[in-house]
Amino acid sequence: MRIGTGFDIHRLVPGRALVLGGIKVPSDKGSLAHSDGDALIHAVIDAILGALALGDIGKLFPDTDPRYKDINSETLLLAVLSSIGSHSIVNVDATVILQAPKLGDLTFDMASNLARILRIDPSNVSVKAKTAEHLLGELGSGDAVAVQASVLID
Ligand code: MG
Repeated sequence: MRIGTGFDIHRLVPGRALVLGGIKVPSDKGSLAHSDGDALIHAVIDAILGALALGDIGKLFPDTDPRYKDINSETLLLAVLSSIGSHSIVNVDATVILQAPKLGDLTFDMASNLARILRIDPSNVSVKAKTAEHLLGELGSGDAVAVQASVLID
């Protein structure tokens, strides 16, 4: 068994979509990024890569590479999954830190979508949400989204 952790943060700006775990979140601001800015999938990717000591998302998919411009992060996660060989993902636990909007039941949609992509049972994927209690600079003012994720790999 190997454990990995991932972290990601993106600035939120008007005119961009907010996508987390492949789910579009109704919001007047979205992630500023070279890709689609899906901080949840990015953190999960880094947790998988970390568990297997395979580097990090920035090394695999440089944000200077035009191939990854506005790319759907599910595509990146599938590429990582195809490189983990016989290893299988046991479970995922993630926390989204977002001041607004409140994610509510969307966290369940994110968890089941991640489970679909990872091809594991939805009972093995957890997505939690919390605000930054108006603290922590841009996170607390609603101008950024951050995600922490842990992954266990067999
Ligand atoms: Mg990212």
